[in-house]
Amino acid sequence: MLKVCKFGGSSLADAKQFSKVKAIIESDEARKVIIVSAPGKSQEEPEKVTDLLIQAYKTKDIKKVKERILSIKKELGLTCNVEEPLNAIEKALEQNIITEQVLVSRGEYFSAMLLADYLGYTFVDSRSLIHFKDDGKVDLERTRKDIALAVKEHERVVIPGFYGSKPDGSICLFSRGGSDVSAAYAADAVSADLYENFTDVSGFYMADPRLIENPHRIKEISHDELRELAYTGAQVLHQETIIPLIEKGITLELLNTNHPEEGSTLIKKYAREGHHLITGFAGRKGLIALTFVKSRESNKLEVIRKILNVLHEHQIPVEHIPTSIDSFSVIIDKSKIEDQLFAVIEECEAIPEIVSITQDDDVALVAIVGQNMAKKPGVSGRLLSVFGEENINIKLIDQGRVEINIIVGVSNDDLEKSIKALYSRFAKELV
Ligand code: ASP
Repeated sequence: MLKVCKFGGSSLADAKQFSKVKAIIESDEARKVIIVSAPGKSQEEPEKVTDLLIQAYKTKDIKKVKERILSIKKELGLTCNVEEPLNAIEKALEQNIITEQVLVSRGEYFSAMLLADYLGYTFVDSRSLIHFKDDGKVDLERTRKDIALAVKEHERVVIPGFYGSKPDGSICLFSRGGSDVSAAYAADAVSADLYENFTDVSGFYMADPRLIENPHRIKEISHDELRELAYTGAQVLHQETIIPLIEKGITLELLNTNHPEEGSTLIKKYAREGHHLITGFAGRKGLIALTFVKSRESNKLEVIRKILNVLHEHQIPVEHIPTSIDSFSVIIDKSKIEDQLFAVIEECEAIPEIVSITQDDDVALVAIVGQNMAKKPGVSGRLLSVFGEENINIKLIDQGRVEINIIVGVSNDDLEKSIKALYSRFAKELV
C-alpha cells in the first residue's frame, strides 16, 4: 500500500502544526511520499510564507521569512542546515541576482527540508523531479520517470510542492495553490493507492460553507463532478489537481489535519451512486458576456470560428459559448480580457458577417452539478423554476456534456441568493 500525502500551508504554519502532521504520517505505514506547501496562515501567523516571499522580492528584505523558518526549526529541535541557504538567498536578493520564481519557490523548499528532517525521511528537490517544457506544460514522461526513481531509491521522501524546473534548469512555478497539482503528479508517477490531501476543512461540501450554514458534506464525488465544481468557483483544491489522476483513476481523499476524525470526501473515478439528486453547487462572479449577432445568411460555425480566432490571438480563454440561431455569446473571465477588451471588440467588428456586438459585464455563473441528474426528465425545469420564484433574472443557460452540470448565468448581485435558494430546495432531495 502506497499513499501520497499533501499537506497544505495551514497544516504547516508553525511548529505545533508540524507536530500534528508528523503524528498523522506516523500513524500509517503507507504514508511514504509527502508533498508540502510553504508554511501558511494560522491564528498566530497572519501571513503565508509565499506572500512574504512575493513581498520580499520587491522590498529585498526576507527577515520575516527567516524568522518563520528558523522558529520552526528551533521549536522542533531540528538539525538540518537551513541557515546557509537562507543566508545565500538574502545575499542574492541584495545583489539582485535571484529570480522571482526561485525566491517564491523557497517557501516549499524550506518547508520540505524541515519536515524531512523531523520525520527522518529523505528530502528530494522538485527541481529534479517535476519537469516543465518550454511552453510551461508539464513533461509527463520525464516527471513520471524521475519521481518513480526517487521513490524507489529512497522509499520515504518529502518533496516540495508548487515548483519544478524547465529544460534549462530554471525554476518554474505552478499557479498559486499548485502544490495540490505537484502531489497529483507524484500520485500518478508512483501509481499511488490513494492521494490524501490534508487541508483545514473536513472534505468537500455541497455548497460554500461561507454562504450556507453547516452544508452537507459530500462523501464521494467523481473526478468529473469535482472538476465542474472547481471550474465554477469551488475553491478547496487547485483547479488542475484532478487532471493527472484521471488516466490511472487514482482516488483523492480530502481530509482535515486539525480534525482527521471529522470525516472526509473521496474523489474517485466513478463515485458510488449517491442518493442525492444534486452533488454540489458552486458560483463564480466577475464574468463578461459578449453577444454577437451575425447576418442571417452567414454560416454560424464559420463566424464563431473567426471570433474564437480573435480571442485565441489575444490568448483570452473562453468559459462558455451559448448559441441561438443568429446570435451567440462568449462568456469570459473579466480579469482575463479587461486590458484588451477594446482591441478585441474592434477586431470582431471588422468581421464582415457580424451585425452587432453587445457587452454585459455583470455576469456570475452558478454551477449545479450532479451525475444523478443525467437522463432525468424535468430536473432542469425544476431547478430553473427556483430562479423565477426568487425573481432572479437568468441571463444564460448552458447544460454541459453528459448532463452532469447545468450552468446558469445571473447578475453578480444575485449569485448568493441563487445558491441559497437552490440549496434550500434541493440539498435534501434524493433520487
Ligand atoms: N505556497 C503556494 C501558495 O501559497 C502554493 C501552495 O501552497 O500550494 O499558493
